Amino acid sequence: VLDEAIKMATDVLAPLNPVGDREGLKYENGNVITPSGFKEAWKKFSEGGWIGMVHDPDLGGQGLPNVLKFLASEIFAGANIAFFLTSMLTEGAAHLIQAFGTDEMRKLYCPNMYTGRWTGTMCLTEPQAGSDVGNLKTSARPNGDHYLISGSKIFISAGEHDLTENIIHPVLARIEGAPKGTKGISLFLVPKYLVNPDGSLAGPNDVRCGGIEHKMGIHASPTCTMNFGDEGNCRGWLLGEPNKGMACMFQMMNEARLGVGIQGLGLASVAYQSALSYAHERTQGASWKAGKDPNAPRVPIIEHPDVRRMLMFMKSLTEGMRALMYSVARHIDLSMHSPDEKERELNKNMVELLTPVCKAYGSDWGFRVNEVAVQVFGGYGYCQEYPVEQYLRDQKISSIYEGTNGIQAIDLIGRKIARNNGEYLRQFVGMMKKVVEPNLDHPRLGSVAQKQNHAIDTVVELTTWLGQAFGKDMAVPLLNACPYLEAFGHMTLGYYLLQGALIADEKLQQLMKQSASQDVAEAAKTNPDVGFYHDRILSARFFANYMLPRVDSIAAAIKTDDRSALEALFGQD
Ligand SMILES: Cc1cc2nc3c(=O)[nH]c(=O)nc-3n(C[C@H](O)[C@H](O)[C@H](O)COP(=O)(O)OP(=O)(O)OC[C@H]3O[C@@H](n4cnc5c(N)ncnc54)[C@H](O)[C@@H]3O)c2cc1C
Repeated sequence: VLDEAIKMATDVLAPLNPVGDREGLKYENGNVITPSGFKEAWKKFSEGGWIGMVHDPDLGGQGLPNVLKFLASEIFAGANIAFFLTSMLTEGAAHLIQAFGTDEMRKLYCPNMYTGRWTGTMCLTEPQAGSDVGNLKTSARPNGDHYLISGSKIFISAGEHDLTENIIHPVLARIEGAPKGTKGISLFLVPKYLVNPDGSLAGPNDVRCGGIEHKMGIHASPTCTMNFGDEGNCRGWLLGEPNKGMACMFQMMNEARLGVGIQGLGLASVAYQSALSYAHERTQGASWKAGKDPNAPRVPIIEHPDVRRMLMFMKSLTEGMRALMYSVARHIDLSMHSPDEKERELNKNMVELLTPVCKAYGSDWGFRVNEVAVQVFGGYGYCQEYPVEQYLRDQKISSIYEGTNGIQAIDLIGRKIARNNGEYLRQFVGMMKKVVEPNLDHPRLGSVAQKQNHAIDTVVELTTWLGQAFGKDMAVPLLNACPYLEAFGHMTLGYYLLQGALIADEKLQQLMKQSASQDVAEAAKTNPDVGFYHDRILSARFFANYMLPRVDSIAAAIKTDDRSALEALFGQD
């Protein structure tokens, strides 16, 4: 499956990535024209069965585990995020219908969406209702077996395009007379074209794209203003119960948040690979070992310690994020399929706790990896000749959509930690300590384990400190939610990197026993696995030494209880 994913990414998606970026989209009288090659690529991608990978084969899915989906998603996101976004949304929208639609809706919509015949969107945002979704104004009026939807949504990804014959919009709206705020929001299924009971298209619904945004990145992904009910005849069907729309939509939002984390990882991964190969090729300056000798030969920039530091930063973060996200995928699979109820519960809790971390840490630190990739390229990194400047622009959106990272941080500290009195965190700490504590005296990784142990204790202590502040002054946790998430993320990555390094260490010991040479660099020449495991251990060591101290500095900063940001007058003169 992975070989096929790599083939799809390499042969179909990646070559279209710069095309989509340069050519962009055209908007003409309500229609959106996608860049050259995108239609054909969508057909191939759909035929490959990638959209419904993890879903029920009876509904057009492939029934594969989430771990495999996350692996393939990293590959697709790295190859062409603007393209892959439409697939992620289609899957999420179909899964909403699968979970909350009627049997008839499930049969009519899911197979057509999981197989890519139709695409899907998520319609939440309005001009006054971005982070504050509860403030939305789109309305729904009962009208026989359906509702009449009226209102406008903005920033709707893949809201309109020419890839498929139909587009299915899950729309959040308020039934007339429903309470204000999130408690009065319902979810509706609104197709672009109405669908007959036999699946054929009946004719256009009253849904129109009013325009597209011109953006910093993801130029090939249409970000649309969508007008529902301009003619007073936009038909929508309720998904789930009235006024329970937010709870339903959270299923898609949580899946999309993990998808955005994967986007951070995918783009970090290709940025690292590009920077690594450039660092091997690009010759500049003499080796520092040559001193001031003007006749010393010029060397590839990978010989310069500062370039090596940048590569190590990128490598350790990318590997750490990968381990985090694949582990979350495993938690999802176990939360659904473990035969043990307690284990299912524990895994579900881990998914909930780690979702905002995947989203916010993956996008923020994925962006930093992309930024460092541009730095490794020097001047060429800033130019379109190489792909890293596009990666950087494409990456930026991931910290903004699907709930800004500020909102993710509040979710972590408020909903995922404080609301259950720290129970999920205690469970996660228990899991980490089981790996860390037995290795505190490990002959080669003991120092890494000790630093990891210290980071865990520091985050636990910081959580208690913030927990006490919760009762007294809400401004303190709200002010510090983002730095807290950062510290939490460093601790989490450190743990997964250590876990990987312990496995790598065992493997390396075995390989070196069989190797003719006891010099690792020499042994790696004949067996690349030696180099792989050796460098995995170094990723964990580098992260423990360079990144984990940030947990201490964040904790120290938060505990100063500095209120400057709250007290500042921020005058505009
Ligand atoms: C390219 C693109 C694609 C998108 N795709 C979709 C889509 O498919 N469907 C969809 O529904 N939406 C989509 N969006 C919208 C996106 O989810 C919103 O832009 C995002 O949720 C932020 O809302 P906003 O832009 O109104 O910013 P605002 O909510 O105005 O936020 C501005 C700043 O204030 C902060 N802020 C706001 N409220 C709070 C608070 N209570 N506490 C702390 N900080 C706060 C935010 O963190 C942010 O830093 C997309 C946006 C873009 C740019």
